[in-house]
Amino acid sequence: MPIHYISRGNSEKFRGRSVLLRVDLNVEPAPGRITFRLASVMPTIRFLLAHGARVVILSHRGRPRGYSRKLSMRPFVPILQKELRQNIGFITTFNLPNKGRVFLVENLRFWHGEEKNDANFAKKLARLGDFYVNDAFAVSHRKNASVVAITKYLPSYAGLLFEREVKNLGGILKYTTNPFVIILGGSKASDKIGMMKYFWNKADYFLLGGGPANTFFAAKGLPIGDSLIDRGSISQVLRLIRKEIEPRKIVLPVDVKIKDRKILDIGDGTTRKYSILIRKARTIIWNGPMGQFEKRGFGEGTAAIWKAILRNSKAKIIVGGGETTASSDLISNFSSLISRKKNLFLSTGGGAMLEFLSGKKLPGIEVLK
Ligand code: ADP
Ligand code: MG
Repeated sequence: MPIHYISRGNSEKFRGRSVLLRVDLNVEPAPGRITFRLASVMPTIRFLLAHGARVVILSHRGRPRGYSRKLSMRPFVPILQKELRQNIGFITTFNLPNKGRVFLVENLRFWHGEEKNDANFAKKLARLGDFYVNDAFAVSHRKNASVVAITKYLPSYAGLLFEREVKNLGGILKYTTNPFVIILGGSKASDKIGMMKYFWNKADYFLLGGGPANTFFAAKGLPIGDSLIDRGSISQVLRLIRKEIEPRKIVLPVDVKIKDRKILDIGDGTTRKYSILIRKARTIIWNGPMGQFEKRGFGEGTAAIWKAILRNSKAKIIVGGGETTASSDLISNFSSLISRKKNLFLSTGGGAMLEFLSGKKLPGIEVLK
């Protein structure tokens, strides 16, 4: 069954009504700066406003246990105000004021019903609107009240960003050209193994870095000191290694950068090797930085992957993940480079993208069909 998109059908239904818009602003609000995730949902906010709707924005932030001032959504109010050039009402209860056109609700995770997908909490939320629009693809793998349960109580649609995500990622599930290269780094190996299994026959190379590479080293019995590994994934990793036939698909770093007995980045030899494979590729998926790029001196591997990707103008490329997209800060003038880069789709999804690209059905997508 097809997903109901706001871009299709009659948008006049929104006029004069309130639309609950679930977005994912789960990143540090940079004062005065509009982040990638916020910028990505602006078209949907503007679309709804242009069609005469009142927009009630919902999001979570961090992992609070009950109220925490540090994780309030309030700092987003001035940022949204500046961006939309109008007043934003901040809401901490389940009543919508009569006046105003745009509202932001406090961090949904301050209510324990959110992560429990609680029906009563969803009903309370539903009182704030006449329609529900999900533009938070990045949380569509979570069975949360504002993603799943809420759709029982309001006519529900997918927003413009959600639609772009499903179409771009869905395109890769349907059709890929070879050489097909998948680059996996970041922290947890377990999240990435599903994708390796799903694309095992289609992909030519899996270029590994970060925690996944360390976990493969550990599985092979190589010394890894105190490096970050995912112990729980070792048996699955061994199964993948045993599946290998020539030519080998799993490509591990040939050199690494170490500090305090920890592997914190891929080395220059690895960077060169990976860059060549990226240059020849015609389909590329990347999730997970190659090293702990936030630490000075350990961002070179990740920066080199970005450069190789930006140089490839022929491949269909998908890059996703919170930290992976944030690591684009390693590249100066990235935003101007990316605006001209038509063959690259930056996904706002991390876990959601990985699950989607592992062929799984995501609960937040299924309820919009
Ligand atoms: P994403 O958010 O893009 O999905 P992950 O959450 O899987 O990516 O992982 C990102 C984190 O992985 C980064 O904060 C980075 O510091 C960390 N990381 C990458 N390589 C290493 C490493 N070798 N050792 C420790 N941490 C690493
Ligand atoms: Mg992350």
